Amino acid sequence: MNTRNLMRGTDRLSRTAAGADLEALRDLREAIRAVLLTHTTGQPLDPTVVGRLRALALAAPLRAEIGEDGSAAPAALDDNAVARVLAAIASAGQTGTWRRLKVCANPDCQWAFYDASRNRSGTWCDMSICGSRVKMRAYRRRAAGT
Ligand SMILES: [Zn+2]
Repeated sequence: MNTRNLMRGTDRLSRTAAGADLEALRDLREAIRAVLLTHTTGQPLDPTVVGRLRALALAAPLRAEIGEDGSAAPAALDDNAVARVLAAIASAGQTGTWRRLKVCANPDCQWAFYDASRNRSGTWCDMSICGSRVKMRAYRRRAAGT
């Protein structure tokens, strides 16, 4: 997720992938960012994002791996990066970790973070940076009466 840094305008994904893989991984990353933002805001997910994720999943070779206790876990069939990410998401969903993965509510930041707060109310990647900035902006808007 954080291979893209909005504040710095950098994208490290191009260092690890190329061509169609890079395009698919970027598409996946931004679709997941949209999902994680719904974890932060509680807003419904844009149906076009669901469509993009479904299209990516159709092309991803996944299978079920059976554990010694008979449990089933998703696993990527080969070295397909999109499949590996989707398998990790499926595993995270089973443990409850998925809902705690969020994206910072500061639109200029959108850094992905793990919300370790007891009541899952985390909104910012860092309260002292993004939380303060956004609250200060809102305060200035209110003070200006706009
Ligand atoms: Zn942030």
